[in-house]
Amino acid sequence: MKKTVLIVGTGLGGLSTGLRLATKGYQVKFVEKAPQAGGRLNQLKKDGFTFDVGPSFFSMPYEFEELVEDCGIKMPFDFVELDPLYTVNFRGSDKKYSLYKDIDKLSEQFSEVEPDFKRKFTAYLKKCEELYKDTVDVVIKQNFDSIPHYIKSLMQVNPKHLPVLLKTFWRQSSSFFESKEVRQIVSLIAFFLGRTPFDTNAVYTLLSHIEFTNNGYYNVKGGMYTIVTSLVKELEKLNVSFEYNTEIADFTSADGKVTSLIDQNGKSWEADIYVINADAALFRGTVFNRKKFSEKRLSKMTWTMGYLTFYVGVNKKLPQVEHHNYFLGNNYEEYAKDVLKNPGTLEKPYYYVNVLSKHNSECAPEGCEALFFVCPVPSLLYKTDWSDKKDIVNSILADFSKRIKQDISKDIIFQMEYTPEDWQNQFNLYKGAGLGLSHSMLQIGALRPKNYDEKFKNTFYVGASTVPGAGLPMAVIGSKLVAERVSDYK
Ligand SMILES: Cc1cc2nc3c(=O)[nH]c(=O)nc-3n(C[C@H](O)[C@H](O)[C@H](O)COP(=O)(O)OP(=O)(O)OC[C@H]3O[C@@H](n4cnc5c(N)ncnc54)[C@H](O)[C@@H]3O)c2cc1C
Repeated sequence: MKKTVLIVGTGLGGLSTGLRLATKGYQVKFVEKAPQAGGRLNQLKKDGFTFDVGPSFFSMPYEFEELVEDCGIKMPFDFVELDPLYTVNFRGSDKKYSLYKDIDKLSEQFSEVEPDFKRKFTAYLKKCEELYKDTVDVVIKQNFDSIPHYIKSLMQVNPKHLPVLLKTFWRQSSSFFESKEVRQIVSLIAFFLGRTPFDTNAVYTLLSHIEFTNNGYYNVKGGMYTIVTSLVKELEKLNVSFEYNTEIADFTSADGKVTSLIDQNGKSWEADIYVINADAALFRGTVFNRKKFSEKRLSKMTWTMGYLTFYVGVNKKLPQVEHHNYFLGNNYEEYAKDVLKNPGTLEKPYYYVNVLSKHNSECAPEGCEALFFVCPVPSLLYKTDWSDKKDIVNSILADFSKRIKQDISKDIIFQMEYTPEDWQNQFNLYKGAGLGLSHSMLQIGALRPKNYDEKFKNTFYVGASTVPGAGLPMAVIGSKLVAERVSDYK
C-alpha cells in the first residue's frame, strides 16, 4: 500500500515537496490555512487587476529545471528573462541606473561615477563566483545530520575564503568600488535576504554571482502565481488533494511519532508521514509546544525585516517605469543601519516598485497599470502599531509621483495594503518577518531549525525557516533535501 503524506502548507516548499513525493509513489494530501494555495507566492485579483502578492522575480531558474526533470514532467510555466535586471533611482537625482547583464552596457551606466568600472566589477564577480562554487554544494545543497557533520563540510571549503567570513557584505563589496552609487547598488541584494549589507556576512556576496552571471532574474509569463497554479495542476494529475481554510493547531503522538494533526475545528488529519511547510520555528513552538521555540526563545532569535506591501491599480499607462524598480534615498548607510528596528526610517522610506502589467497586458484593464510596492519596515517585534499605514503609503505614492514626473494620485482606481500584521495573520509569519528566520552565521546549515523533527521520527519540515533558507530557489532546493529525508525514513 502507498504511504500517505500530509503536507501542512502550500507554499512553494510544500508544493515542490508534494510533487517530488507524489512522483515517487507517496499518496499526498495538503492542508492549508489560507483560502488558496501559494503562501507568500500568492496573487491578488481585483477590479480587472492582477498583482503578485510577494515574490515578483526569482533567480537560479536551473533549480526549477532540476525539479521538473526529477519529477519527469515538462516545465509547466514559461520563464521571462529580465534584462535590465532592474533599475535604480536615488532621491534628488533624475538619473536612472539600468542594471544590464551585459558588462559593457552595464559599465556605460557607471562611466561617470566609477572610473574603470569594468575591471573592478569583473574582479568582484570573480571573487563572488569562487565563493559560490566553493560553498553551494558543500553548504547549501546538503542535509546535515549533526553539528560535527556540518563542521566537517565547512572544512571542505577552501580556507582562502576565511578572511571573507570576518567581514560584512558592505565591507567586502565596498573594498572593490569607490563610488557610493556602485557600493549601494551592488549591496542591495543583501536586502533580498531580509537584512541589510551591514549585518549580512560577506559570504553572501556570492549572490552577486547568481544575480549577474549565473544567470540573472526571471519572471513568469502571466505573473508569478502561474508557478503555483501550474504546480497545483501537476499535483492534481497525481491524485493529490487540497483542503483550504484548514489551520493545524494541535497534534497527537505515540511511540515517538505524530499520529494525527488536529485543525482549528478539532478535525483530525492522519497520515504515515507529516511534512510541515509552515514556519519551522514557529510551528515547533506553537503547535508542538517545544521549550526551545517558546515565545520567549522565538523573540530572541534573529528574524528578517517586515514588509509593507501595497497594490495599486492606476487608470493610466506609465511608460517611464520599468518592470522592476528601486527608489532609494540619499542616506543609505544611516537608513540601512536603522531600517530593521527604527520606525523613524519610514519618514523617508526606500521602496521597490514592480509593474506586472508591463509585460503581461492581461494583468490590468486596457490603458491601466498594476503597480506593486514593497517597502522594508520593522517587523512587529519593533513596530506594533500600524494605524499609520495610510500615511506611510500616501507619502510613498507622493514621492513616486514626483520621481516619475507624473502625478498618479487622481488616477488610482484600486488600492490595498498589507502591513506586517497582515503578513503575520494571513500566512503565520512570526511577527510578520517577511522572509522568516534571518541567515546569520548562527542560524544557517546545521544551526538552522532542522528539516527533520527532533522528537517525532515521521515528521519533517520544508520552507524558509529551515534549511537552506528563504527565497524561491531555496524553497525548491529545500524540497529536494526534505524528500531525501522522507525517502530515508523507513
Ligand atoms: C513581500 C515579499 C516579497 C518577496 N519577494 C521575493 C522575490 O522576489 N523572490 C524570491 O525568490 N523570494 C521572495 N520572497 C520570499 C519568498 O516569498 C519565500 O521565501 C517563499 O515563498 C517561502 O516559501 P515557503 O515554502 O517557506 O512557504 P510559505 O510561502 O511561507 O507558505 C507556507 C504556507 O503554510 C501555511 N500555514 C502556516 N501555518 C499553518 C498551519 N498551522 N496550518 C496550515 N497551514 C499553515 C501558510 O498559510 C502558507 O500558505 C518574498 C517574500 C515577501 C514576503
